[in-house]
Amino acid sequence: MKYRTLGKTGLKVSEIGFGGEWLERHDEAESVDLIKYAHSLGINIIDCWMPDPRSRDMIGEAMKGCRDSWYVQGHIGSTYQNGQYVRTRQMEHVIPAFEDLLARFHSDHIDLGMIHYIDSIEDWNNSMNGEFIDYVRKLHDEGTIRHIGLSTHNPVIGKLAVETGFIEMILFSINPAFDMRPATEDLDSMFGGYDKDQLSGIDPERARFYQMCEENNVGLTVMKGFFGGALLDRERSPFGVAFSPVQLIHYALTRPGVSSILCGYDTKEQVDEAVSYETATDDEKDYASVIAGAPLHSYSGVCTYCGHCRPCPVGIDIAMVNKFYDLASAQDKVPESVSEHYRALEHKASECIGCRSCEGRCPFGVGIADRMKEAAGLFGC
Ligand code: SF4
Ligand code: SF4
Repeated sequence: MKYRTLGKTGLKVSEIGFGGEWLERHDEAESVDLIKYAHSLGINIIDCWMPDPRSRDMIGEAMKGCRDSWYVQGHIGSTYQNGQYVRTRQMEHVIPAFEDLLARFHSDHIDLGMIHYIDSIEDWNNSMNGEFIDYVRKLHDEGTIRHIGLSTHNPVIGKLAVETGFIEMILFSINPAFDMRPATEDLDSMFGGYDKDQLSGIDPERARFYQMCEENNVGLTVMKGFFGGALLDRERSPFGVAFSPVQLIHYALTRPGVSSILCGYDTKEQVDEAVSYETATDDEKDYASVIAGAPLHSYSGVCTYCGHCRPCPVGIDIAMVNKFYDLASAQDKVPESVSEHYRALEHKASECIGCRSCEGRCPFGVGIADRMKEAAGLFGC
């Protein structure tokens, strides 16, 4: 298992993580066994947005004796009222729900205290002013939550969160279908109504949000990486073609700023399949050819950082050069942190000999040789 630093938190989280929401489908012994199995394969980050006692108890039981080797995303504002999940900022519900989480996890702290699910500006304004955010800050100041995070599906909210400076990481929904859609406050609308005109490249606001996370060292963890399973099924995939789990994991992990994808699991075989990403070949990870060969897309000219154009005869890591170039050119002045990362590359864009052999391998028709010249000009080497 490879581990990545989760932004400003400094925590080393496993690239493949655990999203807990399917645990409730199983009996307790089965779910506890599944979490322990995932942990034995190196998975060390788990999300628990669920407020129901059963899910929380199962995670708490699985972590007994090894709590310190897990990083938990625990949500503040996810409550259980009359047997139902309710997202709220009403403190008479928020505080007991969070205290219940600690008790059921047999723990005095939560590693990543998540401001739960903000998708609208109204909710953002409501949550960021007043007693809810005061409570989050108090938990942080006293060490009950070690780091402040936030979960959202909306890049507009994500950008606001980055700009606060105190939100250290974000749980965000990332998959190739969502990435094509403009920002919305309505999560449900993301699951339908795809047509060819909308599958024409990564939405600029989403791309900019990912770049901002990388620039500002705000870590991203990923939810909904498989689009609720629809992208694994040709009939339900908006692209008209099925992806494999490994391809979708690779897609998420190649977005700027991303540290870990939190997959949902029903079986140990599904855990194995996700963890097989760690030893997968480049061909097995290749989501780019799937998108490019899909009957329902008109995506071209934009680098997805897939790495399909390898190898370059002079050794340039084209995907990384393109990523740094996009990060730098999105701003008035090249940020020093991006320059530094670029300068650390073994081979610079200026070494490009213009052979264009890479361009024939790029499924998206990116003009790579021209971009190498532009990148060399921008970075000065
Ligand atoms: S230039 Fe094309 S093949 Fe290379 S990383 Fe970008 S999208 Fe992928
Ligand atoms: S055109 Fe430049 S970047 Fe592409 S393979 Fe040739 S040398 Fe490498």
